[in-house]
Amino acid sequence: MSAAGVALIGVLGLVVGSVVWVIARARAADRAPLGGPVCANPECGAPLPPVAWLPLLGFGAARRCARCGAAQPRKRALFELATAAYFALAAASFGDDGLRLAATLVFTVPLLLVFLVDWWTRFIHTDVIGVGVVAGLGFALADGGGAFLSALLSALGAVAVFAFFFVLAALIYRNLRVVPFGLGDVYLAAMIGTMARYPAVINALFSGVLLAGLGGVLLLLTRRVGRRDPIPYGPYLCVGALLALLG
Ligand SMILES: [Zn+2]
Repeated sequence: MSAAGVALIGVLGLVVGSVVWVIARARAADRAPLGGPVCANPECGAPLPPVAWLPLLGFGAARRCARCGAAQPRKRALFELATAAYFALAAASFGDDGLRLAATLVFTVPLLLVFLVDWWTRFIHTDVIGVGVVAGLGFALADGGGAFLSALLSALGAVAVFAFFFVLAALIYRNLRVVPFGLGDVYLAAMIGTMARYPAVINALFSGVLLAGLGGVLLLLTRRVGRRDPIPYGPYLCVGALLALLG
């Protein structure tokens, strides 16, 4: 793909990152998903002008809430820039394979939604998983019958392995509320299975588990969480999947 094409896809990623952030905020707060951006201060919650849908805080035009003056979090711009970089990298890596590029870019939407909402709330919403599974199977089908079968089997295999982890964690912790591993993670593994397919699914889930371990240790060492606090697992699985999809 030409440099201009890569740059264009990067800008698309910037916008997708911004829209995903706004929708994830709405999901995390149990508002209508397309209800639009609101103030970051939960005690204010005033709606922001529609320009706040756009990346980089509405290109600087929606930095602060008009009612309470609270600033939009800086992390949001960081998230958008990371999404832009991911899109550009995907375009540069396999931009000439249109189907693969389209699939990878579409898959980022449910993966990033789960990433943000699970990080903020420790909940994985099954309707987002459902959309991701349909996208995974749909793109596999477009790739041929063999790819579709591989997507189905990868999802089933991922469910089998992660259901085993889930039962194991439940037995070890004996209290489902503090188990660092939930049913939502099992569903998420199935979604990643349909997207990454065999053999990339192994790389995807293994990197996710590895990142979760590293992240957990890091959070403990920096005392961001206590030893008994549950650490959301899903965000790491999403990052592992995003990395594997680029591979
Ligand atoms: Zn406000």
